[in-house]
Amino acid sequence: MTNLVWLRSDLRIYDNPALFHAMEQGPTVAVYCLANKQWDRHGLAPVKRRLIVDHLIELEEQLAKLNVPLVILDCEFFSDIPERIKALAIELNISNVYYNHEYAVNETSCTKNTVKHLSHINVESQGYHEQCIVSPGLILNGSGECYKVFSAFARNWMANISSQARPLYNKPVKQQELDIHSDIQSLKNYLIDVEIDTKKQWPTGEDEAHDRLNEFIEQDVSQYHNQRDFPHLDATSHLSVYLALGVLSTRQCLQALVSSSQQNIEFLSEISGEGKTCWLNELVWRDFYRHILVAFPKVCKGKPFKDITDNLPWKGNNKDFEVWCQGKTGVPIVDAAMRQLNTTGWMHNRLRMVVAMFLTKHLQVDWRLGEAYFYSKLADADLASNNGGWQWSASTGVDAVPYFRIFNPYRQAERFDPKGDFVRKYVKELAYIQGKAIHQPSKMIATQYDYPTPIVDLKMAAEHTKTLFKNLNDLQTA
Ligand SMILES: Cc1cc2nc3c(=O)[nH]c(=O)nc-3n(C[C@H](O)[C@H](O)[C@H](O)COP(=O)(O)OP(=O)(O)OC[C@H]3O[C@@H](n4cnc5c(N)ncnc54)[C@H](O)[C@@H]3O)c2cc1C
Repeated sequence: MTNLVWLRSDLRIYDNPALFHAMEQGPTVAVYCLANKQWDRHGLAPVKRRLIVDHLIELEEQLAKLNVPLVILDCEFFSDIPERIKALAIELNISNVYYNHEYAVNETSCTKNTVKHLSHINVESQGYHEQCIVSPGLILNGSGECYKVFSAFARNWMANISSQARPLYNKPVKQQELDIHSDIQSLKNYLIDVEIDTKKQWPTGEDEAHDRLNEFIEQDVSQYHNQRDFPHLDATSHLSVYLALGVLSTRQCLQALVSSSQQNIEFLSEISGEGKTCWLNELVWRDFYRHILVAFPKVCKGKPFKDITDNLPWKGNNKDFEVWCQGKTGVPIVDAAMRQLNTTGWMHNRLRMVVAMFLTKHLQVDWRLGEAYFYSKLADADLASNNGGWQWSASTGVDAVPYFRIFNPYRQAERFDPKGDFVRKYVKELAYIQGKAIHQPSKMIATQYDYPTPIVDLKMAAEHTKTLFKNLNDLQTA
């Protein structure tokens, strides 16, 4: 009898519970289900699809070293997966299927249906939690519910880390060769061309991800708290892509962090250095948004966390949204950020907040359009973090920014891009403007430049948004 490990957003060999347990129990075959039409429906970024395929090709080679064949099932929709896996299980005489949990609604129902189909042929399934450092459902408030405030969640997370976090899984031991061969031919059809040089920005494979992690911990993390908000310094880890694909686990990030402090996880709260504490906090945010997704699945279905905010008169797909997408709003920091996204498939975190707030609070465009646009462009597209970030910025989400605290993009630019270097890199039309004057070119009289005037009066727009939210609050208290 043979085991099957069903891979999804866990494209790695090290610290992969499903792979480890499957191989520990007996001979194992791996399967990955492509679902192109489902990805179209979800609006998944081409750059992320390309990265998935690149990493699968690399993973096949690494699995072959353990004698684990990788089978690719060319499915169209998630709804095709249960039947296809069942048929494969029959064909290969599979006794047990191992998988790691996914948390979004469509993925969860696909898992449930697959498990049910397999049970009809007496194949048992085992699921493991690997996406969070502390699994969803384990950090609860006094009423046994998921925390809705990040600081309280983080405190409890920290207090429980040593008892709740699972240990890292080792690389599985090489198995005997099987008479089943990898079939990755269908993958080649999915090697779509993208304009972004993915291999240069995110070299393929687990080793590359670990090199980047170690380099970041050795060289950059100590200054993370001082530098992370300055896009031109590019001082963040850029690990989000590897984490979104599951080439790296957040547990491995945590382990690297504590090892560098010569600490054990039990003493995490005593970890030395503001930079490390600050970076750890970001990993906790990642866990937080996943816990929210599981506890409040409505956020996967286009619903705001705060129901009342569904009554806001958001604008739909209009000219303002189009120019925002193109990076032609006439507000240089917003345009530079959007051009970074469009040309590299990634955007700096500070700028994600700036552009999201500009779209929702100055242009009053529906946050769901911004969320979908990000998802269609980001190499690190991740439903939980993307939704969390958008709802935070739009003040519709859990522990969101208060509606009256609206970032002024000019002030953000002067603070976090003080010499204009970041804007200069992406908004070439303005590159000749020296210093911080680049942030408000419309103030420069008698200067010729081929750049739009700002599409909105920031002050008036912000006041209008505050009134909309205030009316909503009055409605709630009436
Ligand atoms: C509007 C908006 C949309 C976002 N969309 C995504 C998305 O689709 N995918 C995604 O991975 N992140 C998203 N983020 C979170 C954050 O911007 C990125 O994780 C971060 O910029 C990735 O760069 P890095 O790996 O260098 O991060 P670092 O600063 O090095 O942080 C380390 C890791 O912590 C996690 N992290 C950091 N900040 C956050 C955060 N605010 N929320 C959740 N996790 C965080 C990420 O996994 C990141 O890789 C979004 C944020 C906002 C405001």
